[in-house]
Amino acid sequence: MVSEAHPIVAVPPEAERLRRLNDLLALVVEHNPFQRDRLGDDVPLRSLEDLADLPFTTKDDLVADQAAHPPYGTNLTYPLERYTHLHQTSGTTGQTLRVLDTPEDWAWWRRNLGIVFRSAGVGPEDRVALAYSFGPYIQFWASYEGAQDVGAMVIALGGMDSLQRLTTIRDYGATTLLCTPTYAVHLARVADQNGLAEALATVDKVVCTGEPGASIASVRRQIQLGWGARCLDHAGLSEVGSFAYPCDECGGMHLREDEFVAEILDPETGAPVEDGATGELVVTALARTGFPVIRYRTGDIVERRPEPCGGGHPGRWLPQGILGRSDDMVVIRGMNVFPSAIEQTLREFPGVGEFRITFYSEPTAMDEVKLEVELARPLEARAIQAQLRQTLGLRVRIVPLKPGILPVQVGKARRVADLRPPLAERRARQEA
Ligand SMILES: [Zn+2]
Repeated sequence: MVSEAHPIVAVPPEAERLRRLNDLLALVVEHNPFQRDRLGDDVPLRSLEDLADLPFTTKDDLVADQAAHPPYGTNLTYPLERYTHLHQTSGTTGQTLRVLDTPEDWAWWRRNLGIVFRSAGVGPEDRVALAYSFGPYIQFWASYEGAQDVGAMVIALGGMDSLQRLTTIRDYGATTLLCTPTYAVHLARVADQNGLAEALATVDKVVCTGEPGASIASVRRQIQLGWGARCLDHAGLSEVGSFAYPCDECGGMHLREDEFVAEILDPETGAPVEDGATGELVVTALARTGFPVIRYRTGDIVERRPEPCGGGHPGRWLPQGILGRSDDMVVIRGMNVFPSAIEQTLREFPGVGEFRITFYSEPTAMDEVKLEVELARPLEARAIQAQLRQTLGLRVRIVPLKPGILPVQVGKARRVADLRPPLAERRARQEA
């Protein structure tokens, strides 16, 4: 089926992208103190490859700049009065970062979220239920704008508990749900437990973002089964923009290479990874000038795949979306382990409820993984252990629990604890 609603995301030729990049660099070197200090004499670039000579930007760089120049820092291209939108990041990995947008940059957010929704098949006939906090975080507000851009009706669910959200979805006949994948799973379960299955009946699209998972086959299947709806995934960051849109035909996402220069790099060496390998996504937003990010390390780990999707959509295809966060990655006995990979395996077993992953050190200084998991059928523990061993190559200690014992995770999931002493201490113990 060719979906006519699909937006035309045309990736311009390299010369055009280079011109836009150089326009951005010239502007920010002239007017933005943070960027001027970092980019100095390295611009203009002669090719897109030359971008690799510019320094990375990390969240820590931006946070440190704001700490030194509170509250907004110096990554501002225009005088403060030009900015009309203030958001902050949720600070899951550290201090709060404040991000400012001008009216032009906010219009860019709106267009880009509009593309996300068009790709997901959301249009004027849809009623979009927004199950995000309406606090200072950008996800709610950007999604609100995107839904307006495609002419949909917005049903704001900020400030409600799950039961209120379900009855609101039911009463207004919402057709589309926007939330994190964890929350989509949770909300379907709450409906089931409270006899509110009819609240799910009108929803035919669940559009997820905010954490990895909605492109992972087992998680997507769980959401689709729970809601009887299609599950679509997209990705963005407050400090970057909306950089990946859903693939409505083949699953996963596509990079918005018309609006961003995207690199997939080894997080350790900073070198590009080979086809088939995983690396950190590093992006440069070409059109967001007010709070620019040049070579921003997203912390999102993706697989570099050379082949296009079956739908022929523009922008590199990420069939499994974001695999995990580089700061979630845990090195266990010399192996890189993503908690999301453990989740993916768990979701293949239908009786699995909440779970908790704990990394710890034995007195022998050997790193171990403990997985506490709610199981409707405790005997599944052995099968899960065998499957984890096969997919991760790792022995995991499994503690089966009765359903309902672990705290329910609803927002950005907190299911991982690393109780190991700091690396230096572990090394010292191993050498002793
Ligand atoms: Zn596609």
